[in-house]
Amino acid sequence: MLYEKLAQLYKSLSSTTKRLEKTEILSEFLKETPKEESEIIHLIQGNIYPDYDQRKLGISEQLAIKSISKSFGTTPEKVTQEWKKVGDIGEVAKNLCKTKKQTTLFGSISLTTTKVLDNLQKIPELIGNGTESHKLGIITELLIYAKPIEAKFITRTLIGDMRIGVQESTIKHAILKAFFEGNKDYEPIIQRAIDRTNDLSKIFQISKDEKIEELEKIKLEVGSPIRAMLAAKVSSVEEALKQMGSPLAAEYKYDGFRMLIHKKEGEVTLFTRSLENVTKQFPEIEEYVKEFVKGDSFILDAETIGYDKITKEYTDFQAISQRIRRKHKIEEVMNKLPVELAVFDILFYNGESQIEKPFKERTELVRKIITPHPFKIIPSHMIISSDAEEIKRFYKKALADNQEGLMLKTLDAEYNPGRRVGQMVKLKPEDRDLDLVIIGGEWGTGKRSGWISSYTLACKKDDKYLAVGKVGTGISEKEESGKLTLEQLTNLLKPLIKKEDGKDIEIEPKIIVSVTYQDLQKSTTYKSGYALRFPRITNLREDKPLSEIATQKEIEKAFVGQRVKGIKFG
Ligand code: ATP
Repeated sequence: MLYEKLAQLYKSLSSTTKRLEKTEILSEFLKETPKEESEIIHLIQGNIYPDYDQRKLGISEQLAIKSISKSFGTTPEKVTQEWKKVGDIGEVAKNLCKTKKQTTLFGSISLTTTKVLDNLQKIPELIGNGTESHKLGIITELLIYAKPIEAKFITRTLIGDMRIGVQESTIKHAILKAFFEGNKDYEPIIQRAIDRTNDLSKIFQISKDEKIEELEKIKLEVGSPIRAMLAAKVSSVEEALKQMGSPLAAEYKYDGFRMLIHKKEGEVTLFTRSLENVTKQFPEIEEYVKEFVKGDSFILDAETIGYDKITKEYTDFQAISQRIRRKHKIEEVMNKLPVELAVFDILFYNGESQIEKPFKERTELVRKIITPHPFKIIPSHMIISSDAEEIKRFYKKALADNQEGLMLKTLDAEYNPGRRVGQMVKLKPEDRDLDLVIIGGEWGTGKRSGWISSYTLACKKDDKYLAVGKVGTGISEKEESGKLTLEQLTNLLKPLIKKEDGKDIEIEPKIIVSVTYQDLQKSTTYKSGYALRFPRITNLREDKPLSEIATQKEIEKAFVGQRVKGIKFG
């Protein structure tokens, strides 16, 4: 397919904010997309491989700027200046391309989607010396042949900012409409197929034949990451029993981070909940799983928890979060920050999917195949009970053990990958915390100069990020054990700066933080309509994908909740 056709699709998609219109536009496009070109779906998602694939473009802004300046015969300074003015590097590339095209001879060759993908897919393979000039060559080869509208979207793809407002669900609905006449009964079948593969290009390819039974046949595959099931909230044991029935399984809600563990043909792979492969970072877990879990092939769902080497007390998530990113001197950090794996679910075992089976059977299987070795690997702490008082005692024990609270689970429920479900709920004493994304900030002054020292936080509404307030506390100025520092956070945010205006900065939404707050107020200042009072950053959430930050609806619910509890604001 000509890349120009895809560029026109991007343009039409960004011209409307209405979901139905987007679905309609996309479904027409998918009808015309050949089955063999299913990788176009990755491009629509702003990617070059499925979401979970580790091979990312990873183009720095500097390299994008250099590529544009080289391709269109201008200076990097001019590109930077224009970007600051216009606020969209794609638009800058488009404008420069228009001017350049009047004097160039290249216009006659047409780019195809295959050529664009071929070039872009070469980029993640490049490592080591001289890579930057190689990458530059690959990108400029595309840009010099591009038409202005193509230059715009190639550039946006490079920096991972498509601005077309297409989410996974938009593509799902477009597939349903294009190949199954929009039959609503088929939607859960497509969703299940997505949950099992996490690869929309595969789903598109199969759907092209319009045979729903082929989608139904899709099975979980060990080795390709599966999204974790998420939990809803309750505020008391009684509420859980009333809502979910009894008896219930009550488990510790560990204060660590989620890990999905795949084993196949003797090989173990570890994924975080954002589907990142972290096997290299946790060699000891790989070893525990090989040694203490029976079975040839399986997928386990578990929490990795830190503990103090000397006192053997559990530590919090923040203490071990640096291990997720740490790619060097692994031995050193492994000894300093040891972890235990608590396994609480199983999705696949020896050739057989387990997710359709009731939780009770799955948890029994977990207990059967794991030989517990405390401080290495254990099945989760669990009781099964109908007695509210007994569950409350267990809750107290979990808190005394430095854990966050309890997870309460219905015994006969299936496993729903990627869904927030009512058959698994969490109970924690402090629910005044939210996971939000940083979308802006301010350069500090005085002692804090050189650092971004105040951060604008946002929640999500569909594919928009809406501000809910600013936070400047919770981050230390100096190194303290395990605490996030201003310098670390500034370094993470700097490459994501989109626009600067004096002290004010606009930041690409990527960095997620957990924030506690005293209460919520109605607000006309912030786009979400709410403002956090006295917020404080408690954690950097490098384990969490953007799709799982707090939604505007959740904030609204928390606001209503606090009013019900008698605190009236706004
Ligand atoms: P929170 O911010 O409250 O930790 P969250 O937003 O990270 O929650 P939720 O889906 O709301 O995620 O809560 C479930 C998380 O709790 C899981 O992702 C998992 O990492 C963790 N967890 C700890 N112990 C358990 C357990 N026994 N069963 C299931 N999940 C557990």
